[in-house]
Amino acid sequence: MQSMQIYLRNTLSRSIEAFVPIDAAAVRMYSCGPTVYNYAHIGNMRAFVFADLLQRVLRVVGGYSVQWVMNITDIDDKTIRDSAVGSPTWTEDIGVQTDDVRENLRLFTEFYTRAFIEDITALRIYEQSFTAMPRATHYIPQMQELIQKIAEKGFAYERGGSVYFNLAAWRQVEQYGKLFTIDVEHFREGVRIDADEYDRESVSDFVLWKGKKDHEPSWDFDFQGCNLAGRPGWHIECSAMARELLGVPFDIHTGGVDLCFPHHEDEIAQSKAGYGVDPVRYWVHNEFLEVEGEKMSKSKGNFFTLRDLLARGIDPLDVRWLLLAAHYGTKANFTFAGLEAGRKARLRVQEYIYELWERSSGSVQAPEAHAQAAALRSAIFEELAQDLQTPKALAVLFTFINQHTPKSLDTQCAAALLGVLQDVNRIWDVWSIGAQPHEEIPHAVLHLAEERWRAKQAKNFIEADRLRAELVALGYVVNDTKDGYTVERRPS
Ligand code: AMP
Ligand code: ZN
Repeated sequence: MQSMQIYLRNTLSRSIEAFVPIDAAAVRMYSCGPTVYNYAHIGNMRAFVFADLLQRVLRVVGGYSVQWVMNITDIDDKTIRDSAVGSPTWTEDIGVQTDDVRENLRLFTEFYTRAFIEDITALRIYEQSFTAMPRATHYIPQMQELIQKIAEKGFAYERGGSVYFNLAAWRQVEQYGKLFTIDVEHFREGVRIDADEYDRESVSDFVLWKGKKDHEPSWDFDFQGCNLAGRPGWHIECSAMARELLGVPFDIHTGGVDLCFPHHEDEIAQSKAGYGVDPVRYWVHNEFLEVEGEKMSKSKGNFFTLRDLLARGIDPLDVRWLLLAAHYGTKANFTFAGLEAGRKARLRVQEYIYELWERSSGSVQAPEAHAQAAALRSAIFEELAQDLQTPKALAVLFTFINQHTPKSLDTQCAAALLGVLQDVNRIWDVWSIGAQPHEEIPHAVLHLAEERWRAKQAKNFIEADRLRAELVALGYVVNDTKDGYTVERRPS
């Protein structure tokens, strides 16, 4: 298959650019991962499903090999708060708290890291797709080294046991506000901020290293001859891990739009100040998943975790479908009706695949074998190559399906179309390419159907109807035929 030129919206230029990798051998991509202080909600999952979509499109449509790194933030304000002794969110499942605060942090974050990996696996984001999923606490020496470098170049200073980025010095030599236009009046020069998260109105000297506080995890740090025991700020973590695992500059950095400021802006400043290069060529940000016009977030309480949805009997593939259906750069609204409509659309394609399978007697051929199939795949992939236009790609697929019933196709065309759907499924990953499985009808259901048949033969129609209703309640229908009856699952 011919590879296609990929186009991406780069937040740096605020425009869609042709993607050209630094090194043709492999695209290097870094995604800001979860903060593992609780179960991730499906708003967070939008960010990860989007990053997964991007790496699949790069591989399948762009023909690249991809090195994909996604970090696990296992140390920050929230993980420290919630792993502390006496924290109300610590449960027995996590383990027994110890007197060692670093060990508690490790136990706590490992628990939520495992839960996260289970969740993304259910959404078909596979661990094997990552080159690495680095835990921040495993890269403390690299973070310290970067802080030293920034200080040596004159862009960091120590105050009260913590180290801060000197924004005034930096702004003399370099623009701050590359991803985001920052109003000059919002710069609060000489003011220091310790929190990991802050808003656009408080642009100040942000923290690179936080001095040790009582009862908090800490690491020794030999900074200019003094031991500054403490722990890293959130922003330095990603700068150091990306450099260690991918090198700088690398090609693509992803994350939700909320991370543009301050997290990514600070990442650029730190990496450029310490390593001397702009770290990233293409910054690509996903928009929010919203609930009734508001960002889904823990703090607003308007969130669902994947686990919440699975407990309601929702199929994780329908969640994946929903998160892929809207273009990543537009806000998407979460509703149960939307989830249901998406399920119908997904199953409609699945039915089509089953019918094609029957038509082609199970043979799958490369789309190139058939001009119409080859054209369909090109049309779908062209939409994906254009900044991952998933809604347009699906529109092309559905238009085709609506115009071509499997019965109207010859065997070879059906086989080549299966090849198209197999290729599309290398990206969507929500269908099974094969024969419709023959469902085993439970013994109890067959028994009821048999009873109904006998009642009917005996002209006991009231009893026969009652048994039919019982079967319907169980999700089955019986149909009388010329010489007997059939029983099958009721179509959903
Ligand atoms: P966190 O674990 O809070 O660091 O967030 C992990 C990722 O989820 C980040 O890339 C966020 O930008 C992203 N994110 C958080 N909330 C949403 C949302 N409602 N919709 C889309 N992405 C989100
Ligand atoms: Zn990050």
